Amino acid sequence: MNTLGNTPTDGDLVAWDRDHHLHPWAGTGGFGSDEYMRVNTADGIYLWDAAGKRYIDGPGGMWCTQIGYGRQEMADTISQQVMKMPYASPWSFTTEPAAVLARMIAERTPGDLNTVHFTTGGSTAVDTALRTALFMNKRLGRPEKRIVIGREKGYHGSTFLAATVTGKERFETSFEKAQDLVHFLPDVNPYHRPEGMSVDAWCDAKVADLENLIADVGADRIAAFIAEPILCSGGVIVPPPGYHKRTLEICRANDILYISDEVVTGFGRLGHWFASEDVFGIVPDIITCAKGLTSGYLPLGACIISDTVMKRIAEAPGDDVFYNGYTYSGHPVSCAAAIKNIEIMEREDILGHVQCVTPHFQDRLHQIKEKFSIVGDVRGDGLLGCIECRPGLNVESYEAHVKFGQKLDDACEEMGLLLRPFGNMAVFSPPLIITPSQIDEMFDIMEAGMAQVSKDYDA
Ligand code: PMP
Repeated sequence: MNTLGNTPTDGDLVAWDRDHHLHPWAGTGGFGSDEYMRVNTADGIYLWDAAGKRYIDGPGGMWCTQIGYGRQEMADTISQQVMKMPYASPWSFTTEPAAVLARMIAERTPGDLNTVHFTTGGSTAVDTALRTALFMNKRLGRPEKRIVIGREKGYHGSTFLAATVTGKERFETSFEKAQDLVHFLPDVNPYHRPEGMSVDAWCDAKVADLENLIADVGADRIAAFIAEPILCSGGVIVPPPGYHKRTLEICRANDILYISDEVVTGFGRLGHWFASEDVFGIVPDIITCAKGLTSGYLPLGACIISDTVMKRIAEAPGDDVFYNGYTYSGHPVSCAAAIKNIEIMEREDILGHVQCVTPHFQDRLHQIKEKFSIVGDVRGDGLLGCIECRPGLNVESYEAHVKFGQKLDDACEEMGLLLRPFGNMAVFSPPLIITPSQIDEMFDIMEAGMAQVSKDYDA
């Protein structure tokens, strides 16, 4: 059907979306029948649907709308760059935005992470990081050192390699993976530790998991360990104190590259440009980022590599080509948007703002646990939060338990707040510009939603 020149009706849009648009992560049961909320406009932390109803953007898009919606400066920068130089082949050229942004990122990363390889998003940044580790070992004459250690529940993306190191159950069952390339460490969530075990002892056990796996598989076969500073899509799992430092030390002792996947935690989510060093005290070998890099205004990701790794690759004998890249690597318009995004974050001291409002946000989150007995755990840091429904409740069925996130999201949506449901959890990561009174507005709705949902559970 040729739709050019016609103004589509609401009915047309519903039908066209249903019939022709396969959404990401769609359940097969919903193919051709699911109806998605159509959002039309947005400003600050709010979105409006096609009927004009306003919602707080609780999930921050997909953990990415740091500076909020409706920024005229972003629109101006993007349109100016489109008119000046909308695209340049990264094979042959560089552009001012790409060079400036690479420098700006290198200035904000910890330690000697100074080389930026631009990608199209988070998955391709992770893919690039993994390929960098494998490429380094190939250059060093040890191609058998190629296995990657991932973690159960970790999420790293949807390309084949990023999905391979993703430790979510669905990713095990839905598609083939490069199984021979990956081993997983078990759940690190302190909430799931055995009863009576201290958090310190849990940390020891989790560190031992890594040591044991290395001993089993052999350090000479392992190229890299990949971890999110806070494991986000798996349920905002904050590791026990000292975990990242100790796992990094083990990696260094075994010449295993440590890849910190900061696709969510980078660019202010925890009140710092990057969480690895400023929050967890580690300087990884490679950092991946995306999302907040442009606040979601345009797609862009980056794989940032240490000087040490670059030097090892460069100084290994013989010539080779790092045969990795994308048509849109260093896309000038995306890079210009990222530069403006960083400028805005700096001018408005958004990192300072996040540090300032974090205690209030986390306090309101923890009050939910005190107020509602169906809650097993609440957790988070910075402007990241998760509510997990407690297991073993006298609910009608297991189904009701695993649908807690969806039930809470539905109740809150009615009252103008969007959340992100994950089975028996609901997570949220609002735009970083959220004010203390907007935090209250968000948690007031969440509490009203919890009161409603709690009725379904005979706790
Ligand atoms: N890594 C992490 C930690 C993520 O949370 C995500 C996306 N949620 C990705 C990688 C993949 O990023 P993208 O969807 O931009 O490819």
